[in-house]
Amino acid sequence: MIPPTASKSPLPHRKTESRDRSPAPTMDPRAPSPVHQLIVPQKYIETRTPSPKDKIDTTEHNCKYHSHHLDYKYTPPPVKGPCGACGQYIVGSLVTALDQMWHPECFTCTNCDTILKPHKYVVEDDKPYCKDCHLRLFGPPCNVCKKPTQSNRYNLLNRIWHPECFCCVECGKRLTPDNFVERLGSPYCMEDYHRLFSPKCCVCHLPIKDKAINALGKMWHPQCFKCTHCGIPLEERNFYEKNGLPYCEKDYMDLFHPKCYGCKKPITDGRQMIAMGHPWHPECFRCTVCVKPLTPETFKEYQGKPYCEKDYHNLFSPKCAGCTKPITDVSFNY
Ligand SMILES: [Zn+2]
Ligand SMILES: [Zn+2]
Ligand SMILES: [Zn+2]
Ligand SMILES: [Zn+2]
Ligand SMILES: [Zn+2]
Ligand SMILES: [Zn+2]
Ligand SMILES: [Zn+2]
Ligand SMILES: [Zn+2]
Repeated sequence: MIPPTASKSPLPHRKTESRDRSPAPTMDPRAPSPVHQLIVPQKYIETRTPSPKDKIDTTEHNCKYHSHHLDYKYTPPPVKGPCGACGQYIVGSLVTALDQMWHPECFTCTNCDTILKPHKYVVEDDKPYCKDCHLRLFGPPCNVCKKPTQSNRYNLLNRIWHPECFCCVECGKRLTPDNFVERLGSPYCMEDYHRLFSPKCCVCHLPIKDKAINALGKMWHPQCFKCTHCGIPLEERNFYEKNGLPYCEKDYMDLFHPKCYGCKKPITDGRQMIAMGHPWHPECFRCTVCVKPLTPETFKEYQGKPYCEKDYHNLFSPKCAGCTKPITDVSFNY
């Protein structure tokens, strides 16, 4: 918006009410110069707050000969107020703040009387203060409610808090400096922190607050990481897995390894021998009489037990009526 200049419109017009723009000099000698203390008839005094609608209507000045200026009658300059500090009416620059109008030089810090600039002051109890005085008198502002913290404040997470404003961002419960958990700069109560961010146990589905066991691609409470068969607690690095489930060594061997037909213990190292339709530890496959080690090719079976050839014939082959030795190949029955 271009304000009318003195040369274009030599008569007093309504000035803009922006406090930053001082009134253009009045060329008309009949017009009074603006002063603070002006005796003005009450009907000319505007007491309303200036609004953006108070623009200068420039259309009337686009006419070619300014003919309407010929029947000019004096109109006093606009007067605003009263000033929120001195109570007198305002002509020219003014400050609008705290729902009042002020002479710029009257709008000062309540504490130190420094003239306050727009946006460079803080309001407390409906009174304006410079930022320094406000900080000194009322303390730094709480980062939550923005109100001053006086002397009672927490300085936590690089911010200032009223004790009553230091609350869990999830449930709103009040927190204390020694009982909260931080996550991405926000405070949480323990329950919400663990509920939201802690790993969940794959057995009981509750949050794991302390030590977690990471096994079989899942997270476990130590007390939930147990042998699937007998239930004894397992260690993270000492368990056996079958079909995604943990087992203690004994149960794993018992349940999932073949058992030796001789000693009845599981065969865990893969060195198993099949003989007589059963698995054996190689060292367990021995002659029932002389305990000499046997191989699947060199043994004789009698009633489910292995024997070396010599003992088998001694025990079970017919004996020679002449020499009493066992007859091991062709026998003659005369
Ligand atoms: Zn004043
Ligand atoms: Zn001050
Ligand atoms: Zn607060
Ligand atoms: Zn909470
Ligand atoms: Zn659990
Ligand atoms: Zn077990
Ligand atoms: Zn064995
Ligand atoms: Zn033998």
